[in-house]
Amino acid sequence: MHDELRKLPSVDRLLQESAIRHLVQEYGHELAVEGLRYALDAARDRIRGGAPCPSSDEIVSEAVSYLNLLTRPTLRPVINASGVIIHTNLGRAPLSEETRAAMIAAARGYTNLEYDLEAGQRGSRYVHAEQLLCRLTGAEAALVVNNNAGAVLLVLTALAQGREVIISRSQLIEIGGGFRIPDVMRQSGARLVEVGTTNRTHLRDYEEALGPETAALMRAHHSNFRIIGFTAEVPLEDLVALAGEHGLLVFDDLGSGTLLDTAAFGLAHEPTMQESVAVGADIVSCSGDKLLGGPQAGIILGRAKLIARLRRHPLTRALRVDKTTLAGLQATLLHYLKGEAVDKIPVWRMIAARPDTLKQRADRWAQALSQAGVRALVIEGRSTVGGGSLPGETLPTWLVALEVDSPDALAARLRAGEPPVIARIENDRLCLDPRTVFKREEEVLLQAVQAALRSGDSHL
Ligand SMILES: *Cc1c(COP(=O)(O)O)cnc(C)c1O
Repeated sequence: MHDELRKLPSVDRLLQESAIRHLVQEYGHELAVEGLRYALDAARDRIRGGAPCPSSDEIVSEAVSYLNLLTRPTLRPVINASGVIIHTNLGRAPLSEETRAAMIAAARGYTNLEYDLEAGQRGSRYVHAEQLLCRLTGAEAALVVNNNAGAVLLVLTALAQGREVIISRSQLIEIGGGFRIPDVMRQSGARLVEVGTTNRTHLRDYEEALGPETAALMRAHHSNFRIIGFTAEVPLEDLVALAGEHGLLVFDDLGSGTLLDTAAFGLAHEPTMQESVAVGADIVSCSGDKLLGGPQAGIILGRAKLIARLRRHPLTRALRVDKTTLAGLQATLLHYLKGEAVDKIPVWRMIAARPDTLKQRADRWAQALSQAGVRALVIEGRSTVGGGSLPGETLPTWLVALEVDSPDALAARLRAGEPPVIARIENDRLCLDPRTVFKREEEVLLQAVQAALRSGDSHL
């Protein structure tokens, strides 16, 4: 053992070797030394356990594995075969080609982000998406902040701090990531006045709660749940009329926010941004990366005077969006203006994907995977929109269902692969939904599944 240990080269000697040079070139001297030390320590442990001294090549290769893992980004692309189109855990909306290009262009060099090119002086970053938003929704003015949670916080802080905001008990929602309407309200300094019951709220409930301290009536989209059965909520129109009589504001948190009518795709109707504006909500907020299909952002639409107040509020600075977001949002909104959103925006392409096309893709996958020796069936299934929109609504799809002894083990292997693949398990089968997989990812996906089926000794 001691002889073998003595045969181990020193870090300094390894660094003289030509094979090491590329290691230093790629990772820099310090990391290369760390990698070699790691590999030598590991070799020493193995020798003590009775193994022979490894060759220099083996030591270098171990150092490379260590450094690859160390420097691998933790934020990585994954293939979403789950069939959940707007998956918050998977980064919500994938972006259109034009959106990506606009973001790269803004990131590469300088921009006129806050520079008025005509006047040659300081401008405002908030003009960039505003015109498009106003044109598309009919709003007088618009403001973009970091996300919709920030938008709700800003609106309540700037327009209702120290005063009362009335909201139905059925809308006191919690969405993922610990965002609860009552908590955000408390944080803003607005006082929550809850009215109605969990399942039914009437206009008179709002009326009875009105007082000298009331600043606004708020409506919040249910986001991720649905109340069914004996239910009643007050239409936005009626809230607007009531608020009008008393000189109060109506704030509509649309959650997802959409510009297109989801009913045209066989889904329930999701309230659109244009509708809320047309009905007369004074302030409307929604996310940029849910059904809109753009980058993460919080979009606020509303009356010019109110938006001006929001813009001046110090919190706006803290919730400020960056140039790449604004560039991306603009490019995404342009798709709507040009009437090409369904063709260009991935979220809408996925929503609009036709079952027969999905079946063709599923058939092809199943065939390829059957050749790898697994039982792969093509079965009918349901995709979901996700992202706190259209709760309970699904789209018909075709799934590739793999029959293996342990679908959990296969799912874990798929997650551990490169790229990781996210599948779902239904009725003890591992299911892959083509709806959320890009065409360009198909070959890689099939290879990843084949590799996962082959890998390891443990039985699947
Ligand atoms: C998603 C959602 C939010 C939060 O939006 P983010 O963009 O995730 O910050 C707020 N309210 C509702 C109703 C939502 O659905």
